[in-house]
Amino acid sequence: ITLKTSRFENEANRRKLAGMNEVLLTHNLGFPRIGAQRELKRATEAYWKGQLSEEELFKTGAELRRAHWLSQKAAGIDLIPSNDFSFYDQMLDMSCLLGNVPSRFGWEGGNVDLALRFQIARGVASTHEAGCACGHQATTASEMTKWFDTNYHYIVPEFRPDTAFQLSSTKPFDEFAEARALGITTKPVLVGPLTYLFLGKGQEEGFDRLALLERLLPIYGEILRRLREQGAEWIQLDEPFLALDLSAEWQAAFLPAYRQLRQAAPGVKLLLATYFGELREHIGLAAGLPVDALHIDATRAGHELDQVAAQLPSPMILSVGVVDGRNIWKNDFDQSQRLLDRARAGLGASRVWVAPSCSLLHSPVSLRRETSLDLELKSWLSFAEEKLAEVATLARLGTREGNPMALHHNQLAVQSRRISRRIHRPEVKARAAAVTAAESRRQSPFAERQPKQHAALQQPLFPTTTIGSFPQTTEVRNARARWKKGELSEVDYTAFLRQKTVECVRFQEAAGLDVLVHGEFERNDMVEYFGEQLDGFAFTTHGWVQSYGSRCVKPPIIFGDVHRAHPMTVEWSRFAQMLTARPMKGMLTGPITILQWSFVRDDQPRSATARQIGLAVRDEVLDLEAAGIRVIQIDEPALREGLPLRRGDWREYLAWATEAFRISAAGVRDETQIHTHMCYCEFNDIIASIAALDADVISIETSRSNMELLEAFTHFRYPNEVGPGVWDIHSPRVPSVEEMTALLEKAAAVLPVRNLWVNPDCGLKTRGWEETKAALKNMIEAARQLRTRA
Ligand code: GLN
Ligand code: ZN
Repeated sequence: ITLKTSRFENEANRRKLAGMNEVLLTHNLGFPRIGAQRELKRATEAYWKGQLSEEELFKTGAELRRAHWLSQKAAGIDLIPSNDFSFYDQMLDMSCLLGNVPSRFGWEGGNVDLALRFQIARGVASTHEAGCACGHQATTASEMTKWFDTNYHYIVPEFRPDTAFQLSSTKPFDEFAEARALGITTKPVLVGPLTYLFLGKGQEEGFDRLALLERLLPIYGEILRRLREQGAEWIQLDEPFLALDLSAEWQAAFLPAYRQLRQAAPGVKLLLATYFGELREHIGLAAGLPVDALHIDATRAGHELDQVAAQLPSPMILSVGVVDGRNIWKNDFDQSQRLLDRARAGLGASRVWVAPSCSLLHSPVSLRRETSLDLELKSWLSFAEEKLAEVATLARLGTREGNPMALHHNQLAVQSRRISRRIHRPEVKARAAAVTAAESRRQSPFAERQPKQHAALQQPLFPTTTIGSFPQTTEVRNARARWKKGELSEVDYTAFLRQKTVECVRFQEAAGLDVLVHGEFERNDMVEYFGEQLDGFAFTTHGWVQSYGSRCVKPPIIFGDVHRAHPMTVEWSRFAQMLTARPMKGMLTGPITILQWSFVRDDQPRSATARQIGLAVRDEVLDLEAAGIRVIQIDEPALREGLPLRRGDWREYLAWATEAFRISAAGVRDETQIHTHMCYCEFNDIIASIAALDADVISIETSRSNMELLEAFTHFRYPNEVGPGVWDIHSPRVPSVEEMTALLEKAAAVLPVRNLWVNPDCGLKTRGWEETKAALKNMIEAARQLRTRA
């Protein structure tokens, strides 16, 4: 059979005839699905609460997909993706498509419906009798984990030796047909088979999930065939795992797998999408696959372009991801054009495509709604919609169809960013450049600081404390909302917060905690609160990005040199300290966490921005100390998150990250006790860096792991003090005294008793007061019992 000439061949011919064959073809890898006004979040949550029918939720989904396809078309994108939409997560969708549903959900085959999808993602609530506050799900949700080095989280596929696959959803086919009805022949997007397997988790020890590939590929083949029959010309297979370190087995599996896919679905064209990093040793592997196009992330691997182009066999197409899908900055057309010209020169224009670096899932939807942003700052930004317009413009730049004014305007914006006084503050840069080794080192080693601190603070054995926040009740959140709307005056709001702080301090004193906190009632978010007060940060009104499921975050934008113009927390800490004779712990967010949870400027290395934030936090630490605060906690829950994808790059990152923390902490006297806090995290492979932070005390989340996480500390002979969490604050369940003493005894068996603290796993902001009171009472009693036994 001879296939009809495809739409894209026609398009290429049209261009050739029109003498503009240098215009590049454009495509997109994925569009944010939450909607410009978080319509999907609202609808999904209403559905969960039973306020919206499934039909209505489906309707919202369909409307969003339609709007997104049409806006991509209007932006001038030639190849528009489908199946990038999801009601929860694309990895979960893949599991449902492949019929990989964990057996505990009792699924018996057939179509995986929406309700089941949500059950896998969120678990099934306990049906225990009313009043039982065990908080445990009757059927546990699948685990969720970070998607590579982004702040997006996916639902982890579960694999067992007997895992079988069968086509169990029509989602990609339905969405393809839906777009077709709008006159758009989309490029369906699927998570590639190797990445899908790699990112899943074997549920049995020693089970190698790669063994499932053989069973998996026929289903992928079936999906490709069906899409082909429906009229798909291109299919995008996402294999970002090619940006990771891979064992020989995983590498070897790639070529045969793709050969099999190729054979399973002749006629359909395959685009293999890599992103988030360099391909390095996998360049040959990627270029040698039997696919029709290869996408590379040119924002992170632009320097590999020539090498990739040289190895790409004709007529394979190279898709160059020049527009950063992970950030909010306007593209530098000059720089991108250079890259594209190199690709054109090496491959010819017909073999070069332009695209964003990765799916736009990780950038906010549209700049159009940002009406209160400063205009100059806004001229430097670009969200998903604007990024697609950039892609379309870049494809034409330098050709007869190109608009020279576009380049001109773009370069004006780029230039203004390069020299803007509000970005570049010579005194901040000079201070960062002049940091000495001494500034990132405490005056004396921990062994000398420890006795001084114990004496100054009259620290008992097994001292008790909390991680910082106390319940952010509806009352607290309402007051903040009313204050933001102007319904509550500044004076009244402050009076309200003071009242809450007083109550919180009184409660802690009465309960018998040793080191108190002020409760963080004045804070909305642990990064936003500081960003709002630091120079160099900006905030959008609608810059939401999906974090997981219906949850979205609105990261601050670090656009310029970071500087602390005035104290940020000193007033609250001073106020709280005045209420009590016990030590009041100052509470700060550390430089790496602020960096990780923001959109970071791309005109200097992340390390330079981290150091500037470190210095700003240092100023705050010193002001707290001067105000009489003797214990200061600098939270760094995101330290591990910042680890680069490749292990070989860890060292460098950990060196500058720990340095930024030390700069923030090291200015204080020996007697001042520096705490840090980290949420659930694998410590084994970074314990040396944790120790290098040289915090006097680190509190960590350990209760759910039954203190197993402490092994890293024991093994390393971690020298400083540790507060292993004894209360799982993710659940409303109140742990008993016995449970907590048992956990503490476990800790005491492996760490020196004088180094142990007693605290919950994390902050209490999501808990209610009732369980907080009960659990802290038990916790303090557990500490008391351990003291008498010690
Ligand atoms: N101090 C913060 C709190 O208690 C820490 C939160 C966190 O680690 N994520 O809320
Ligand atoms: Zn935490």
